[in-house]
Amino acid sequence: MTDHVVILGGGTGGTVLANDLADRLETELATDKVRVTLLNDDPDHVYKPVWLYVPFGQREPEDGRRPLADLVDDSVDVRIDRVTDIDTDTRQLRTRRGPAIEYDYLVLATGSTLAPAEISGLAEGGHDYYSESGAKTLREELLSFTGGELVLSVIGSPHMCPAAPLEFVFMADDWFRERGLRDDVEITYTYPIQRVHGNPHIAEWARPLMDDRDINVETFFNAEAVDPEAETITSMEGTELDYDLLVSIPPHRGVDLIEEADLGDNGWVDVDKHTLEADHADRVYAIGDAADTGVPKAGSVAHYQAGVLAQRLASEVRGRPATATYDGKTLCFIETGMDAASFVEFDYEQPPSPAPPSQKLHWSKLAYNESYWLTARGLL
Ligand SMILES: Cc1cc2nc3c(=O)[nH]c(=O)nc-3n(C[C@H](O)[C@H](O)[C@H](O)COP(=O)(O)OP(=O)(O)OC[C@H]3O[C@@H](n4cnc5c(N)ncnc54)[C@H](O)[C@@H]3O)c2cc1C
Repeated sequence: MTDHVVILGGGTGGTVLANDLADRLETELATDKVRVTLLNDDPDHVYKPVWLYVPFGQREPEDGRRPLADLVDDSVDVRIDRVTDIDTDTRQLRTRRGPAIEYDYLVLATGSTLAPAEISGLAEGGHDYYSESGAKTLREELLSFTGGELVLSVIGSPHMCPAAPLEFVFMADDWFRERGLRDDVEITYTYPIQRVHGNPHIAEWARPLMDDRDINVETFFNAEAVDPEAETITSMEGTELDYDLLVSIPPHRGVDLIEEADLGDNGWVDVDKHTLEADHADRVYAIGDAADTGVPKAGSVAHYQAGVLAQRLASEVRGRPATATYDGKTLCFIETGMDAASFVEFDYEQPPSPAPPSQKLHWSKLAYNESYWLTARGLL
């Protein structure tokens, strides 16, 4: 009998997992003891961290795209199709174009989606760099912005890369200074809770940097509505801010089919945070943004979780007990300007302790981004 492992989502988590399984199960794949299928709705693999640099003219959106088929081992069946339904009772997926796909093991690596429509006026009045098209448009806006109120509003949590909003305001501060415009630009950062970041250790580190850089902070600001005509954003707490340029981190959701399959709320799969097994279905797992583990929605997390799950699945296929567990490991470089960055590494037990910002860490982040394409292939 051939076991069929189906990975849904060819982003960071799904691609790293597919290549790791190809390596671990080389013999089983060659002897048809197992098949691995990777399903993605886009022929390209998209590396989202590039988008942070697009508004500042440092990278092009195309730098974050490569054909998925070029990144994945030949022993994996890569299919470009959109999954429209998951039936965990019959262990079947339905897709937009092809016949139903049966699985023995299903991994959900479907990532995050943006839901700007949840905030009235946001789609019309706000810009973002959390999408490829948003990052491109924001570059035009920033280039023509020579003075006024720039508001960066983090709307809701969780969202991808919790450090990226801080990175954006630190980079914008530097960017306007380099252009001699900083005195003409007010930068305001809003955050939904009573500090500037979800993690108290990172918040405590970031706040003095923001004060030093004259970045205004509005905490307890849960955006309720944007008025594109009046150019205001208001919060549920009753605060109204004027803006000339609004940059938002829109509300995030997982994909609808997860909720439709009763695997979790808002598109996030309820999982055991150590084994990554779904709470509400057998032989279903989730990694990366889709998995509700409580750790940041970050590519590094997707990567580490993929490694753990590859070990577990290889054990399952071989009929051995699966022992590998995910310890919450998260790694993150945090840009603190155009040429300096900090770095944090933490897990379920150890809190983050941000490193002093340095140019070396900034170059390390850029090097990490470049080497990503090798990492995704499993070569690093
Ligand atoms: C601006 C920005 C900066 C970031 N910077 C960093 C950083 O510096 N460091 C870091 O670690 N992380 C960073 N991240 C976060 C990181 O990009 C994500 O956490 C990571 O991509 C999550 O990987 P994933 O595999 O879970 O999902 P994704 O990479 O989003 O992949 C999900 C895939 O599933 C596919 N899919 C979804 N639904 C279906 C369906 N129904 N059928 C078929 N295919 C489907 C999607 O098309 C997509 O290809 C950043 C994100 C942003 C937006």
